[in-house]
Amino acid sequence: MTDCPCLPKCPFFHDRMASMPTMANQMKAKYCTGDNSDCARFMVFKALGAGTVPATLFPSQADQARAFIKTAQATHA
Ligand code: SF4
Repeated sequence: MTDCPCLPKCPFFHDRMASMPTMANQMKAKYCTGDNSDCARFMVFKALGAGTVPATLFPSQADQARAFIKTAQATHA
């Protein structure tokens, strides 16, 4: 397992999870240093590029990520 390439700059952990260290560590172990292919934020990053990931998107929100990607791709098609 390798660390997610987004980890050093992922705003999710640096901003949104600062006040929830226990949950942040659980998510980090599962996604960031585990399997980032399941991470909703990484899905958007991979499909649409850096700077497109909604700030409020949690790693566990894969369904929302798929819907967001679909809408974005339809808009730019
Ligand atoms: S939250 Fe997702 S995109 Fe951000 S570092 Fe973790 S696995 Fe990568």
